[in-house]
Amino acid sequence: MTPLSERPVNIVGAGLAGALLAVLLARRRFAVDVYERRPDPRLTEGERGRSINLALAARGIAALERAGMMERVRPLLIPMRGRMIHSPSGETQLQPYGQRRDEVIYSVSRADLNRVLIEEAARHPRVRLHFRQTCLAALPQAGALRLRDEDAGSECDVPIAPTFATDGAGSAVRSSLARAGLIEVREDRLDHDYKELTLPAAGDGRHAMHPHALHIWPRGGFMLIALPNTDGSFTATLFLARSGADSFDSLTGPDRVKALFQSQFTDAVQLMPHLLEDFAARPQGPLGTVYTQPWHIGGQLLLLGDAAHAIVPFHGQGMNAAFEDCAVLDSLLERHDGWDTLFAEFERSRLSDAAAIAQMALENYIEMRDTVRDPMYLRRKALAMELERRFPDRFIPRYSMVMFHPEIPYSEALRRAAVQDEILAELDDGRLAGKVDFARAGALIAERLA
Ligand SMILES: Cc1cc2nc3c(=O)[nH]c(=O)nc-3n(C[C@H](O)[C@H](O)[C@H](O)COP(=O)(O)OP(=O)(O)OC[C@H]3O[C@@H](n4cnc5c(N)ncnc54)[C@H](O)[C@@H]3O)c2cc1C
Repeated sequence: MTPLSERPVNIVGAGLAGALLAVLLARRRFAVDVYERRPDPRLTEGERGRSINLALAARGIAALERAGMMERVRPLLIPMRGRMIHSPSGETQLQPYGQRRDEVIYSVSRADLNRVLIEEAARHPRVRLHFRQTCLAALPQAGALRLRDEDAGSECDVPIAPTFATDGAGSAVRSSLARAGLIEVREDRLDHDYKELTLPAAGDGRHAMHPHALHIWPRGGFMLIALPNTDGSFTATLFLARSGADSFDSLTGPDRVKALFQSQFTDAVQLMPHLLEDFAARPQGPLGTVYTQPWHIGGQLLLLGDAAHAIVPFHGQGMNAAFEDCAVLDSLLERHDGWDTLFAEFERSRLSDAAAIAQMALENYIEMRDTVRDPMYLRRKALAMELERRFPDRFIPRYSMVMFHPEIPYSEALRRAAVQDEILAELDDGRLAGKVDFARAGALIAERLA
């Protein structure tokens, strides 16, 4: 079997997936050329005073472990044990994510995580990182990738085969393939956008709210969330409709912004001294789901991460899924000696999982902004946890399967959760309070959940 690693490969985009993939391929002795549009993050400071964070969970951690990265990543992490729900009057309630000590998710700075991955990739002599190189198009028929050098202003073509396109949700590679009629793409934009804001550290440098939780202000049609940073601040994100009554369009000036925050996020606004400046300065970002097929062009090119299957952020799984893509690809390298069969198997094995997490992420938006306050939701969540305690090998709440059980594929988590929901509905006839028939529960679980 000729090792695939005898030929060099390209990666387009040194974001989260591209940088991790470069590390994994370098460990398998591939020569890798990475083309990234942005400047080298090792030489530039991130945007001053701004830190954007993400929730890292078990799937992402498993992939980072596979790449030998966890020792470097661990110091960047803040554990979050549950959702801290903030009511309109400022009362808080912690809803734990899981019931075991290790069932936590972690807040991590996107920029710091990306930087340590790039630093690690750069340690390998066979990895060449090319910054300020924008990929304009993939041209499979011509066997080329077209690049623009952002400093020189010049364009050039490099041989395409094989290329991993990890250039994110707005992938230029994906667009060029769609324009050429080689793939089909559907981009479903949500009618809600987002804006990132800051809750600075308290005067003593410590976190001004409980640091080990993901804070949520659920308000039905919209919500604010906040994740902790290691410098004592929180990054808050407002998710709000683009147009309509409570919407970004309706926030026409500082007075309207202030009024919305003071009426809806009373306790948060007291911790946001720069709210109005931040609100005016920060961009309003779009959200959406990208459905693409196929993900590969023979053995020439493979789309991966957000470039193939961007999702809405409400399950905190986009990066985790992108990292899992990298781990799956790495494991396939052990069994394949041709890129075309490897890419085809990758797509076959990941397509239904990508579709499943896309669906669950959309569903989770309703849960986060609304259902978390619903008594029936809380009752069934408590029952689900109890069933997990009694039948741990068979009944695992959906959130836990997605966040804490990387051995259960997303598609399987979605399927099992639908069965579990039926069981919960049958057991919860509205009179639950302490009167669950656990013998019946056990029988239903044994019958329906292998
Ligand atoms: C508001 C928000 C919150 C989120 N929260 C979470 C979370 O809590 N947990 C989670 O798991 N996920 C989260 N996500 C999703 C996560 O950000 C993405 O899924 C993840 O970044 C995907 O990684 P990627 O490498 O595919 O793309 P990216 O990280 O976007 O990387 C793409 C890279 O390609 C580069 N690039 C782009 N175009 C070109 C080009 N033409 N040529 C060369 N380079 C190019 C970019 O500069 C970038 O470096 C969130 C997303 C949003 C929008």
